[in-house]
Amino acid sequence: MASSLIDILRNVFGYSSFRGQQQAVVEHVAAGGDALVLMPTGGGKSLCYQIPALARAGTGIVVSPLIALMQDQVDALRSAGVSAEYLNSSLGSSEQRDVERRLLAGALDLLYVAPERLLTARFLDLLGHIRIALFAIDEAHCVSQWGHDFRPEYRGLSLLAERFPTIPRVALTATADERTRAEIVERLALAGARQFVSSFDRPNITYRVALRHNPRTQLKQFLAGHQGEAGIVYALSRKKVDDTTAWLAASGIDALPYHAGLDAATRAANQQRFLREDGVVMVATVAFGMGIDKPDVRFVAHLDLPRSIEAYYQETGRAGRDGLPAEAWMVYGLSDVVTLSQMIAQSESADERKRVERQKLESLLAYAEAVRCRREALLAAFGETYAGPCGHCDNCVEPARTWDATVPAQKALSAVYRSGQRWGAGHVIDILRGVDNARMRELGHDRLSTFGIGQELDEHAWRSVFRQLLAAGLLASDAQGYGTLRLTDSSRPVLIGKQAVCLREDAKPTRATHRRQGTKSAAAGNLGVEPNEQPLWNALRRLRTDLARAQGVPPYVVFHDATLLAMLRARPTTTDELAEVSGVGAAKLERYGRDFLGVINAAA
Ligand code: ADP
Ligand code: ZN
Repeated sequence: MASSLIDILRNVFGYSSFRGQQQAVVEHVAAGGDALVLMPTGGGKSLCYQIPALARAGTGIVVSPLIALMQDQVDALRSAGVSAEYLNSSLGSSEQRDVERRLLAGALDLLYVAPERLLTARFLDLLGHIRIALFAIDEAHCVSQWGHDFRPEYRGLSLLAERFPTIPRVALTATADERTRAEIVERLALAGARQFVSSFDRPNITYRVALRHNPRTQLKQFLAGHQGEAGIVYALSRKKVDDTTAWLAASGIDALPYHAGLDAATRAANQQRFLREDGVVMVATVAFGMGIDKPDVRFVAHLDLPRSIEAYYQETGRAGRDGLPAEAWMVYGLSDVVTLSQMIAQSESADERKRVERQKLESLLAYAEAVRCRREALLAAFGETYAGPCGHCDNCVEPARTWDATVPAQKALSAVYRSGQRWGAGHVIDILRGVDNARMRELGHDRLSTFGIGQELDEHAWRSVFRQLLAAGLLASDAQGYGTLRLTDSSRPVLIGKQAVCLREDAKPTRATHRRQGTKSAAAGNLGVEPNEQPLWNALRRLRTDLARAQGVPPYVVFHDATLLAMLRARPTTTDELAEVSGVGAAKLERYGRDFLGVINAAA
């Protein structure tokens, strides 16, 4: 081995120690073993294959699903002094031939390729002529049809095991789902691979979920705590994306839209601005996000429920990849559940798949309604036991107030039953509240024994009861997605008085909570930069932006926020001191050291 693994970590990447399972993975793969690496976003998966590729003779071949992802990784590697290239359709044919020539000459440490390219006869032939250090299969969940990013081309990658049985293969994913994991092992022929499973907790993300009552005001208050920070606002429909973007832009926020209805050039331009500039807010449908490697996304906001607990985890996971504090915030309503159920019911999928999708939606609803620590609830949905409570999610900071809702729950279940289990929450609530109109009489529902027995609660309160009964599995909605409610196996013990029901009070935010959120933002912001540090912080960021622009790369390719923050705190004045800062490797020290020392010394 040319140099030891820890030396590569220190000299090339500028980090002092491995994180979590990195060392175990790197040692195993460098020694020639196959591996399946399950690590959350931001956990540091890239180093798990980059370091062994550098340590072993030959070129590391990295399979990556998206052009944007490859470009980012290659830019970052080059700026750390690594000889890295990619081959994809964005290159002209002479550029491609040039990369191939350098590959054949053994001049590349790492080469990124798309799966469809890797599987061409031409590329496989090239591979036959070079020394291969390893194969890395990034975003390995793309091989799974259960996952959220299925890519049929990934299926062909099982061929690597057959054709190159002696070359180590490492597959990596941030997907926590058990079913997806099993499918990766099967489809990529990784039965013999060692599995490295990390906790899926994202300790730097704060989770907050609220009922949607006035989304614009709620979003505005949330964004007030994130001024000048980059973030993503997710909405379900294209129209909502467009409307929200226009409204945010009119309120002076640097917001851009992204959805499949925009032409490719606009989408690319908006994505580029989000990646290359500081503090852009992307308002998007789920069309945006996969392959967004931007490390300094400070928040992800959901204006609607995502499709599943898995989608929620993936989407919120795009925040805080750099390990610095970030926030995941969501507002939702009962109508989301109906809309999503309809989308699932009307999709082309097979019944088995629809059943799984409904389950995943239900677990998300249960998470949203949870009274316990969010982190505990989220990780539990992926089969992980978190030794909580975390102490900084919304439920931990402000424990939900609960009330004994046994009697209203019994009334609700009974009204669903007596009206024939074929009505949505709206109508059943009308029955409970005794709304006397022509339709009610026509249906004969005014003569039901449950008609008018629920006067003690208003409509808003009843909606809350129904939502929570659904979330708790005490009611189910129909498979066809009409929003009609029926009882479940769990309903009976409640109906016969054997089980009590405790529900959360739906607190509307008070003035006091608004004010508190406001002050937090104005003071230190998310990253905790104090007012007296602000001038140097701004100067460091300006320098970074200038250097990045000159090279045509995103700012974080020069240095991550975490590294700039470390500089701000350590205030190194010499090259040796700067070399000690986490994230400053030999190549970056050489390239940028003088400029950054100049700015720091000027501020002293
Ligand atoms: P993933 O691909 O798992 O989402 P990355 O490989 O992009 O994560 O790493 C996430 C962040 O953590 C990056 O900013 C990376 O530079 C940083 N990082 C990774 N490993 C270490 C380490 N050992 N020490 C310090 N920072 C690290
Ligand atoms: Zn918590």
